[in-house]
Amino acid sequence: MANKNPFTNTLEQLKKAADLINLDPDTHAILKVPYRTFQFSIPVKMDDNSWKVFEGYRVQYNNDRGPYKGGIRFHPQANIDEVKALAALMTWKTAVVNIPLGGGKGGIKVDPKKLSEGELERLSRGYVRAAKDFIGPDIDIPAPDVNTNPTIMGWMADEYSKLVGRPTPGVVTGKPLALGGSQGREAATGLGGFYLLQEVIKKLKINPKKARVVIQGFGNVGYHFSRFAHKEGYKIIAVSDSRGNIFDKRGRGLDPKHIINTKEGKGLASGCYCIGTVCDCENYTRVSDKKLLEMPCDILVPAALENQITKENAGRIKAKVILELANGPVTSEADEKLHKKGIVVVPDILANSGGVTVSYFEWLQNIKNEYWTEKEVDKKLREIVTTAFNDVWKNKEKYDTDLRMASYVVAIQRVAEALQAKGYK
Ligand code: NAD
Repeated sequence: MANKNPFTNTLEQLKKAADLINLDPDTHAILKVPYRTFQFSIPVKMDDNSWKVFEGYRVQYNNDRGPYKGGIRFHPQANIDEVKALAALMTWKTAVVNIPLGGGKGGIKVDPKKLSEGELERLSRGYVRAAKDFIGPDIDIPAPDVNTNPTIMGWMADEYSKLVGRPTPGVVTGKPLALGGSQGREAATGLGGFYLLQEVIKKLKINPKKARVVIQGFGNVGYHFSRFAHKEGYKIIAVSDSRGNIFDKRGRGLDPKHIINTKEGKGLASGCYCIGTVCDCENYTRVSDKKLLEMPCDILVPAALENQITKENAGRIKAKVILELANGPVTSEADEKLHKKGIVVVPDILANSGGVTVSYFEWLQNIKNEYWTEKEVDKKLREIVTTAFNDVWKNKEKYDTDLRMASYVVAIQRVAEALQAKGYK
């Protein structure tokens, strides 16, 4: 896959949207740079008593609509440009769903699979010690992202609380329930994506019971999305993770609970599908990672990493709809090609906004000392993402554009209005 600088990609999208609405150049200049960028070192004592220094990042892109908000990614390829791009996307995402938060993102260059649990905990706590002066419930609120999870968020909230000398659960979201996490947070990105897909297919008149779905990435987001889609009757015909994939040759549809079972047993790498201890390697197979994205299907769901659909493979994509549950999986050149082919792309800033929306609910519950039920959370989530979808659809028609540009238009206009109200323009 092409290694395009992800921040360049984000700026290209911003420019296209700015041109479409004739955004004044001063506002554009403010929106194309992060307000603050931090890069720091995190020394960690390893289990063998040696010390290793890890590189950490936090980018605070924009806080004109509220405190910075965004996840922390642990990945060997994490780098400042990726974090900048993701922080910009968070700014547009919180604006498109109209929640009173800004955009930020963080990361550590690390392969967490190579660390013991103790080393991972010391690294996570070290990140908070390095960032303590510029995060906080009314400053910047981190959350989980790739390879970070509720346990890590729990350690981070605990470390921050110790540093400031009082329980401060609102400093991070995505925490375990016992530490002030919200009901529904874990599944929120997948569920929000599912609600949005339901709106899109209504507009496109696609029957969910006949829709074939391919999912790239079977972590938190891909898994939870697949559960809701499967329940609704969508046929999940192929799923991949970093180690392999399964393709259902007969197109009958994979059940997420058996995929999990397969993953935990033989692993997706074998291409076999396991129900209990019985694995079927005849009707299910493995395809190349490249082919998986190019498979004939109705809905393609990239739910792993960025830059997966590029100008090289965009021409071979056969899906009718691409639901971007990952951040930045389609490059801007690919986007144009897909649009010309009539493929509807539901952009990341809208498609995966369910995660930050329920993170916002978690933060609200923490600062108000309240607990909401899962039913309340899911209902409010549905209302927020559906309203955002309708706002975006109106702008898609008004500007005769695609859903990505329409989402950027909604988001940029909201951030620009905040800037204007503060007197910048
Ligand atoms: P995760 O770590 O739980 O899962 C990532 C999955 O992607 C894993 O199954 C991994 O094996 C797979 N993967 C990695 N490289 C792959 C490759 N080359 N091919 C196929 N699969 C590959 O992470 P997640 O939280 O599910 O996040 C996935 C994406 O969704 C990321 O882009 C993230 O930024 C985005 N996202 C996550 C949330 C959230 O709430 N977790 C919210 C918004 C956006």
